[in-house]
Amino acid sequence: MEYFVLRNHSLQRFHTFRLDVIADTIVLPITKKGMVAALRDFHDKRIVVIGNGSNMIFSQSNYDSNTVFMVTTMVDKIEITDNILYVQNGVTMNKLAWFTCENSIDGYAFCEDIPGTLGGALMMNAGQWQYTIGQYVKWIEVFDKDTLQTKTIIPDADFFRYRHSKLNDMNVIVLSIGLKIEPGEYMEILDLMLEYRRERYVKQPRQYPNGGSTFKRPKDKNGDWLFIWKLFDEVGLRGFQIGDAQVSQKHPGFIVNRGNAKVAEVQMVIAECKKRVKEKFDVDIELEWRVI
Ligand SMILES: Cc1cc2nc3c(=O)[nH]c(=O)nc-3n(C[C@H](O)[C@H](O)[C@H](O)COP(=O)(O)OP(=O)(O)OC[C@H]3O[C@@H](n4cnc5c(N)ncnc54)[C@H](O)[C@@H]3O)c2cc1C
Repeated sequence: MEYFVLRNHSLQRFHTFRLDVIADTIVLPITKKGMVAALRDFHDKRIVVIGNGSNMIFSQSNYDSNTVFMVTTMVDKIEITDNILYVQNGVTMNKLAWFTCENSIDGYAFCEDIPGTLGGALMMNAGQWQYTIGQYVKWIEVFDKDTLQTKTIIPDADFFRYRHSKLNDMNVIVLSIGLKIEPGEYMEILDLMLEYRRERYVKQPRQYPNGGSTFKRPKDKNGDWLFIWKLFDEVGLRGFQIGDAQVSQKHPGFIVNRGNAKVAEVQMVIAECKKRVKEKFDVDIELEWRVI
């Protein structure tokens, strides 16, 4: 068997915000070949690919058989071939960081604490500080949903931008990626990874399920970047809660699930955040999360 199918099953364990949302069909490919087979078998449905579900939120409590969720975390081969790092789309950023550290490959320490897969990371051009995954990509193997065939894309200079890649304008699913290899020092990479993790843990509300930063950083009328947490503090949003959906006390840039949050509660909290910031600062804030 190349892939499993779960019927009428909760998506709770397949995304980091942990909403108890029911899907008629969840497909779990075991291999890349299985993923391609499943993409062909279900091509007449709306396919939603879930990597680690760390940058998505659901807009419904139930999804019928017209939507097929494909969870990719078992498609996770990683190896070095011909001086290229070959990584399948379901490999987590954490696994990539540790693999490169163990093989003294430089550049990927920033990935250690980003809780997504490479597939999701390429769609979002995930990163932190000056590092983004797009900087390291040599080629991308994709499944083309129009032709139902696979093909290879070589990214051009402006393929990746801040939290965006041109993959979003194409009707494709990421299968595997070729990444650059630069030699590095094991101990230096290890120290960096641990330092990054510590820095992020002390700031972020990791004790509750969440989906990372909820909103993109907005700009003011002069084009200067603003901090979401500062805006939220000025309008009293820190700790604002409806049901179990809460603007984090620790870091208001995150909405967290205090237990059993419902889709509607998350939506109401998001709406209140947008409304208060618009009223006070005349700034429109946009979700960073993908809404499914
Ligand atoms: C605690 C926490 C901290 C975070 N910190 C950061 C950070 O520092 N920097 C940062 O950039 N992000 C951060 N994020 C957000 C998130 O981890 C990244 O955006 C990550 O790259 C998303 O990967 P994913 O596999 O979870 O994607 P998902 O949430 O599963 O999917 C995101 C989008 O990509 C699509 N997708 C997934 N896989 C594929 C594929 N194979 N082919 C085509 N489309 C696909 C999905 O359909 C969806 O539209 C954080 C999140 C959390 C919860």
